Amino acid sequence: MSEPARDPSVVTRFAPSPTGFLHIGGGRTALFNWAFARHHGGKFLLRIEDTDRARSTPEATAAIFEGLRWLGLDWDGDAVSQAERHGRHAAVAGSMLANGTAYKCWATREEIEAFREKAKAEKRPPLFRSPWRDADAAEIAAKEAADEPYVIRLKAPRDGKVMVEDAVQGSVTWEASQLDDLILLRSDGTPVYMLAVVVDDHDMGVTHVIRGDDHLTNAARQSLIYRAMDWPVPVFAHIPLIHGPDGAKLSKRHGALGVEAYREMGYVPEGMRNYLARLGWSHGDDEFFSTEELIDWFNLESIGKGAARFDFAKLANINGQHIRAMDDDRLAALVLDYCALRELDLEAEHRDMLTEALPGLKERAKTLAELLDIAHYILATRPLDPDEKAAKALGGEAPELLARLTPHLRAASAWKPGPLEDVVRTFAEDEGLKLGKVAQPLRAALTARAVSPGVFDVMVTLGRDETLARIADVTG
Ligand code: GLU
Repeated sequence: MSEPARDPSVVTRFAPSPTGFLHIGGGRTALFNWAFARHHGGKFLLRIEDTDRARSTPEATAAIFEGLRWLGLDWDGDAVSQAERHGRHAAVAGSMLANGTAYKCWATREEIEAFREKAKAEKRPPLFRSPWRDADAAEIAAKEAADEPYVIRLKAPRDGKVMVEDAVQGSVTWEASQLDDLILLRSDGTPVYMLAVVVDDHDMGVTHVIRGDDHLTNAARQSLIYRAMDWPVPVFAHIPLIHGPDGAKLSKRHGALGVEAYREMGYVPEGMRNYLARLGWSHGDDEFFSTEELIDWFNLESIGKGAARFDFAKLANINGQHIRAMDDDRLAALVLDYCALRELDLEAEHRDMLTEALPGLKERAKTLAELLDIAHYILATRPLDPDEKAAKALGGEAPELLARLTPHLRAASAWKPGPLEDVVRTFAEDEGLKLGKVAQPLRAALTARAVSPGVFDVMVTLGRDETLARIADVTG
C-alpha cells in the first residue's frame, strides 16, 4: 500500500486559553497538531486565547510556552494573541451584518428571560428567537437613531440540518432548530469566543483543527460562521478526551495534572511524546517509538474514537525505555536540568561522577527521579546513612568480612571493574562464599542501598580513596 502524499500546505494550531498551566490534555492536543504538521512538512501555529481578560494571566501564558518547549513542541512564527485581534473580529461581524448573515439585536435581558419562561411553560425548546431577526427597516432605523446598545447575532438556519465532516467522528449532524442565533459581538463591541476562533483560524490559514471533542458542538456553530463569510471550512478532527484508568473523567490522582508536574516527577520529553501520542492514536501494536517515527507515521485516520485511558504504569514503562535508549550526552543534559529543577546543587566533582555513571544508572530507572535515587551513592556524603535493607546486609558478620576484604582491594592491580571483580571473586572463593555474599554487604557499605548499578562500576565511579573510606566507616 503506498503512503498518502505529504501536503506541505497543512497548517495546524494549538489554541490554549491561558488560565492555568499547560494541562496534560492540552499537551496531547498540541502534540497531535504538531506531529500532523511536521509529518506533512507544514506549519504548526500557536494562538493564545486570552480573550477572557479577567482569567488570562501573563504567568499562565509563560507556563504554556514553558510546557511546550519542555515537551519539544516548537511552533512556527510568533504566538498570536487573540485579544490583540479584537478589532479584526469586530470588523468581520460588521461584514456579516453587511452581507445579511448577521443582524443587530436590541432585545433586553428581561425580554430574553420572558421568552425562555414562556417557551418552557409551553414545552418548547428555550432557544431564544429574537424578534429583531425579521424586524422591519423602520424599527431598526429608530433604534439606530436612538443610539441604543445592541449585540450582533448570527442569522443561523432555522430548518434542515447542520453537518460537520469530522476526520475522527465521521459526519455529525445537528438539527438546525437546536442551534440558536448566537451572539457574535457583545454590546460593548467585544467578540465572543466562537467568532474569534473562526476569524483567527481563517486569517492564520489553518487547514486542520485538531482538538478535544468537548468542542464538537462548537464546530457546528463555527461552521455556520465560515459559511456566512464564504470561507473554506477547515478539516475538523475532534479527539476523544483522556479518561482515568477506571474509565471515569480524568482526576488529579489519575494524572489530570499540568505538564510541569510530569517534568517534576522525572519523566523525559521523549517518553512523554511517545506516551501522549499513544493516548488516542496508534500505529499498529507499536508502544515504544521515537519522535522521528511518530512524525513519520502520524495521521488522522489512526486516531481512535474511544476515550483513551491514562495509565501511569504504562507511562513509566515507556519513559524507562526512552531513558535506556537515549544517548548519554542527552541524558546527562536532562539529568542536570532535572537536578536544577529539584534545586539540587551539585558540586563539580559529583556532576562528573554522575555523568560517568549514567550507562549503569539508566539501566535501572524508569524516571529521572528514580535515577537520582539510584545515584544516591554518588551524591551522598560520608558517613552514609543506610536504608533498612542495606542496614540488614551490613549486620552480623558483614563488618568482619569487609575488613578481611580490604587489604585485597588495596592490592588490586588496577582500579577498574575487571581487576576489582577478580579480587572479590578470589576472596569469596577463599572464604568459601558465593560472590553475592560478599558483593551484597560491599554494595550496602558503598551505596547505603540494596539496589545499585554493578558494584564494581560503583567502586570505579567512587574512586579508590572514597571506596576504601566508605568500607572503613562500616568496619570501624
Ligand atoms: N481555547 C480553547 C480551549 O482552550 C480551544 C479552542 C479551539 O481549539 O478551538 O479549550
